[in-house]
Amino acid sequence: MIVNKDMMTSPVGKKYNFWVIGWILLMHLGALAAPFTFTWPAFFLFLFLSWVTGGIGICLCYHRLLTHASFRVPKPLEYFLTFLGVLASEGGPINWVARHRIHHAYPDTERDPHSPRQGFWWSHMFWLFKHKPILDNYELYSPYAKDLARDPVHRFLNNTHGLYQIFLGVILYLWGGFPFLVWGLFLRTVFVYHITWFVNSATHKWGYKSYAVNDDSSNLWWVALLSFGEGWHNNHHAFQRSARHGLKFWEFDQTYLTIKFLELLKLARHVHLPKLPKFSQITKAPQLESVTS
Ligand SMILES: [Zn+2]
Ligand SMILES: [Zn+2]
Repeated sequence: MIVNKDMMTSPVGKKYNFWVIGWILLMHLGALAAPFTFTWPAFFLFLFLSWVTGGIGICLCYHRLLTHASFRVPKPLEYFLTFLGVLASEGGPINWVARHRIHHAYPDTERDPHSPRQGFWWSHMFWLFKHKPILDNYELYSPYAKDLARDPVHRFLNNTHGLYQIFLGVILYLWGGFPFLVWGLFLRTVFVYHITWFVNSATHKWGYKSYAVNDDSSNLWWVALLSFGEGWHNNHHAFQRSARHGLKFWEFDQTYLTIKFLELLKLARHVHLPKLPKFSQITKAPQLESVTS
């Protein structure tokens, strides 16, 4: 395809993406059935799958492992963790990683796909509703995730990511009827969506800053608790490659504890940690370490 300059510089197109809007609407409508289908097994399934797909799949794998190379795991485990991320229905791994690297490259500028400077609801979810040439075309976004695009397994998962949630929905329905389908798929997907989206919206709007960075990223305790540690977002923008986002002793970071557990099992290696200045000291953020080439 012909790539013009405008496509590379403008992250937002004019047309709405009705597939995405329809899918997100369907998930929310399905989630409305939750009060009428409550059972305790369905509730615990919801908690378990929220952790598996959101905590492990998105926060630990898509974000800290694949996007920022904060640590390494053996390839078969990396593929399995990526599959868990695919089950969160937030897009394929190459697409997710590319758009998040674009966010870090241009945070809170007009090239940021989701900055609250363009409105809270824009950054939270409305940005997903519009076609964005750079994020919707593999040729344009894959250069931001060259390391993954070289890998046939990641390319396969990226191309087929939409199928697995549907298979999972069929399995959940056959296993536990409507309670498992509603709580294990619809409500769980909506819950994981919003905690991920709060990291893009709320933690670029509210909270405190421990480090001076050239964007609006902040540390926000309630997002950190909901999002398995991702809400310590100012720390993350300051030390993007760090596997640990909660840097003060009370900044609870569940995902980092999981990475430490994997390290204990000798499954996680090369765990990156920042060289911390004194906490009282406001520092200049280090440059983004490139992991795309
Ligand atoms: Zn990040
Ligand atoms: Zn951010």
